[in-house]
Amino acid sequence: MKAVVIHAARDLRVEEREPEKAGNGQVEVGIEAGGICGSDLHYFNHGGFGTVRIREPMILGHEIAGTIKAIGAGVSKFAVGDRVAISPSRPCNGCDYCLQGLQNQCLSMRFYGSAMPMPHIQGAFRERLVAEAWQCHDVNDGISINEAAFAEPFAVTLHAVARAGSLLGKRVLVTGCGPIGALTIIAARVHGAREIVATDVMDAVLKKAEQVGADRTINVASNAEQLACYAANKGYFDVHFEASGNERAIRSGLEVLKPRGVLVQLGLGGDVSIPQNTVVAKEIEVRGTFRFHEEFGLAVNLINRRAVDFKPLLTGCFGLADVQEAFELAGDRSRAMKVQLSF
Ligand code: ZN
Repeated sequence: MKAVVIHAARDLRVEEREPEKAGNGQVEVGIEAGGICGSDLHYFNHGGFGTVRIREPMILGHEIAGTIKAIGAGVSKFAVGDRVAISPSRPCNGCDYCLQGLQNQCLSMRFYGSAMPMPHIQGAFRERLVAEAWQCHDVNDGISINEAAFAEPFAVTLHAVARAGSLLGKRVLVTGCGPIGALTIIAARVHGAREIVATDVMDAVLKKAEQVGADRTINVASNAEQLACYAANKGYFDVHFEASGNERAIRSGLEVLKPRGVLVQLGLGGDVSIPQNTVVAKEIEVRGTFRFHEEFGLAVNLINRRAVDFKPLLTGCFGLADVQEAFELAGDRSRAMKVQLSF
């Protein structure tokens, strides 16, 4: 079977790998769609992110869906031919955090396509994947496999919304409207946000944000004053989802959050400084959000019920012969939102 393997920065290869057999409790899935994520792009462009570096060849990919081709012993929930979205979250379910229900903080997490541990956890951009049956979630008839492959990044944003607490009737600011920011808009809308304002520095991206449900978009590169207006009377927004990792976005968000507002930080920009005085005086709560676990099932459920529509976010789908082109396109914010591979 073919797999998409990163060897070092800018060294991406399609290679042959030995297929595995489904064991007890497992299924073999023919992968049909795989979304290219920001972390895949970091490995491709820079060989890693932060202190994490590629130290051995690693199959990329963790946003995946496909069709079951074979069933291992003891699996009654699925049949050959079922279409499934596959959660890449594989916690140990035995460590202290797992036992507290914090599987996303698992001490022995084996998340697909991660160079954090050594040996690296091999990813899922491959023609065949053997997964545990519990990782797999049925995709309804009529839902495209491309939509199903959005379940993973959507689950990330559902977890961010869970970290924010109830959004019912709340005014929400989303800064950074790449795929995660755009999906956060969808997740916030589904959870009852009253008003959603989205910012970015690129008009093409903001147009997508509007298409997926933002009430207002602001290009803060050309019209920063439009956001600054919301700072009157100590602020306007109840919740700020920060998906850019940009220090200026964090600072401007703190200015327009109301007292006791919540900043949920999704974007990773490395070390930034934040104005302590604002956080203290307005009693702002700063909350991180990392991956997801149980939200994956909710993501698939919302997709299956057509409660959400990701079609405006799918830029294109490329075969393995064009994997290089797909990664180049995915990294170009002026042209691409979500780029997927087909296998
Ligand atoms: Zn664990």
